[in-house]
Amino acid sequence: MVADSILQKQVRLAKLLDLDSFRDVMQSFADLYRIGVKIFDAEGTKLVDVRVGASACCAYLFQHARTKAACTKIVHTLKHAPLNEMSGEVRHVDCFSGMRYAVTPIAHEGGYLGRVIFGPYLPKEAAQLAPSLRQLEPGLDPARLEHLGSQIRIASSQTVLRLMLQLKQFIDVILFTSYRAMLTSQMHIESVTEGYHELVAKNRDLADANERLKELDRLKSNFLAMVSHELRTPLTSIIGYAEMLSEGMAGDLNQEQGEFVATIMEKGENLLQLISSLLEISRVESGKIRLDLVDLKLAAVVDAAVSSVLPQITKRKITFERQVANDLPQISADRDKVRQVLINLLGNAVKFTPEQGTITLVVDRFFGARPGAETGSGSSAERTSVFDLDEEDFVRILVRDSGVGIPPDQHQRIFESFYQVDNTATREFGGSGLGLSIVKSFVEAHRGEVWVDSTPGQGSTFTVLLPSARA
Ligand code: ADP
Repeated sequence: MVADSILQKQVRLAKLLDLDSFRDVMQSFADLYRIGVKIFDAEGTKLVDVRVGASACCAYLFQHARTKAACTKIVHTLKHAPLNEMSGEVRHVDCFSGMRYAVTPIAHEGGYLGRVIFGPYLPKEAAQLAPSLRQLEPGLDPARLEHLGSQIRIASSQTVLRLMLQLKQFIDVILFTSYRAMLTSQMHIESVTEGYHELVAKNRDLADANERLKELDRLKSNFLAMVSHELRTPLTSIIGYAEMLSEGMAGDLNQEQGEFVATIMEKGENLLQLISSLLEISRVESGKIRLDLVDLKLAAVVDAAVSSVLPQITKRKITFERQVANDLPQISADRDKVRQVLINLLGNAVKFTPEQGTITLVVDRFFGARPGAETGSGSSAERTSVFDLDEEDFVRILVRDSGVGIPPDQHQRIFESFYQVDNTATREFGGSGLGLSIVKSFVEAHRGEVWVDSTPGQGSTFTVLLPSARA
């Protein structure tokens, strides 16, 4: 990076100058003083060539072999004669024709960038073309030479030197300003480019890390699926045998034996539920959710879900309210998955609500915009600010409880797999931390949304939006 920096680079004259406007200025200068200007860069490339006065004479001399050869030699000297760029000397070069040039280097920051050739003009001392011209090339027409000579500016070398210094000063100023502008923009580009390269490298590292994580995640999901499946089969047998025992199929049980068997069954059921959740989540994570879509009668699904949590509601003396609207839009959804969503939300409400608390289940129609791009994210305030989203027709499910509540900074995290607000070993409530993650995946598979509004100590409201079949 640093090796390519503008500060290390040799700048080129053509890069520094805006050549078109520079040529215009040189043209005006040459017209004003009737002396031509040529500028070559360090490689000998001609950047400016303004001819005035003497050009017809030079062209005539170039038409004859001997004068042409002499011309070529002079041009070579003008272009290549060494110049002391540090002192910025102005060198006079005499042409065989009697004309004269002034040459000076263009330097910048101690480096040679090119040269300015100012001329030709006729020096005041002679004030005419060299009489020896006709000896060199007898074919030249004296009358024509005289006429052409009269068009060439006569000037003293001091005047030309003064003009040349002025011209040089002007070029120096232009170079200084252009260089400064170029430096600033180049440095800016360099720093942006460097930043970009760093970002690209970081992105690559992140992508690699992401790939590794995905692979690990896939292995974890496979492992979960395999273990859960292997556990489920023997567990189902354990529960089955316990059931047979409790039904007295192996003889009557005394009271204590009956209680022990009941505990085996209860714990077995809990374990089975956990294993089912694990299997479900591993299916979700491997992208294997399959929806069996039907025209869903929500009221029936609500009944089924409520009946599965009703025993605990009653046991804990919780007041339960159920409001299902009559004007629900039609939805096309997977019955089992929607029931699971309801069971998980209601189950949590029961679990996190103290005895004699209240749980309300509302199912109604909601016509409006989605809360935000990300499910389970954003506060109510953020959601209402989304004006530009399309309005849609939804079935809305609200599960409200008067339970422990959830701190605001956890409102998104609780939807992650295995995440629990209280994850200490001494936590009060059981659970796997998978319920809400399953809810979120199922709701999203239906192109729906789920989020929570909650105040610690006051309760929580989980909202699910399921788009209507028309959407
Ligand atoms: P689990 O309930 O098995 O722990 P979930 O994924 O269902 O797992 O919930 C994740 C966490 O979110 C819970 O551990 C709890 O901290 C919090 N949570 C969920 N529902 C509620 C609720 N109704 N009231 C308070 N906290 C809740």
